[in-house]
Amino acid sequence: MTGTPCSAPIAFADVVDYWAGELTGADHDRIEEHVFSCDACARELADGEKLVRGIGAVARDGRLHSVVTDAILNRLAADGVRIRMFTLDGSGVVPCAVWAGDDLVVSRIRADFADADSVTIVTRLASGEEISRLADIPVRPGQREILNAFSAARLRTLPATRVSVSVSARVGSDERMLAEYTLEHGGSFDRPSGGR
Ligand SMILES: [Zn+2]
Repeated sequence: MTGTPCSAPIAFADVVDYWAGELTGADHDRIEEHVFSCDACARELADGEKLVRGIGAVARDGRLHSVVTDAILNRLAADGVRIRMFTLDGSGVVPCAVWAGDDLVVSRIRADFADADSVTIVTRLASGEEISRLADIPVRPGQREILNAFSAARLRTLPATRVSVSVSARVGSDERMLAEYTLEHGGSFDRPSGGR
C-alpha cells in the first residue's frame, strides 16, 4: 500500500514520545493536527504505538533491530528488559559483546545531524555482510544521537568479528557520510558480565 509521501514527516523520536506521554501540549497538538491531514504520518503514528507497546516481546523474540529512544528504553527497563549499551562517539575501536541475560543491545550513535533531512545507518561485518540497514530515519532539529537497538538473541548468532557502522545523511539531494565507527565484537558469553 502506498500513499502520498509526507514532505515534513514527524521525527521518530516525536512519535515515540507521543505514545510515551512525554510531549508538551504544543508538540502533542502539532502532531495531532498534522496526522489529521497526513495519511503517511497517521500510519507512522499507528505503527509507533505497536512498536512502543510490543517492543519488549519483539526484543526477547530476536526480531528487533530498530531505532529506539531513551523513552522507549526507560519503558523497557521498567518492564524488566535487560539492556546493554555501547556509545559510538569519536574515533577508536569500541569493544562489544553479548552476555548471558542481555535482552537488548543498544548502540548510542553520536554524530552531527544538524543539517540532515534524514539519516541512514548501515552495519556490516568484517566479511562485508550487511546485518542491518536503517534507512531514511527522520531526525529532530538539534538531535545529537540515534539509538540503534539489536535483539541480543540475534547478536548471539554472530561470530566474533569486527563490525563497521556507517552513518550517512541526506541533505537536500546530497548524500553525505557523517561518521564511520568500528566495533570489535567479542562474541557471545554464557556468563553474566562482571562489574558492569
Ligand atoms: Zn506527514
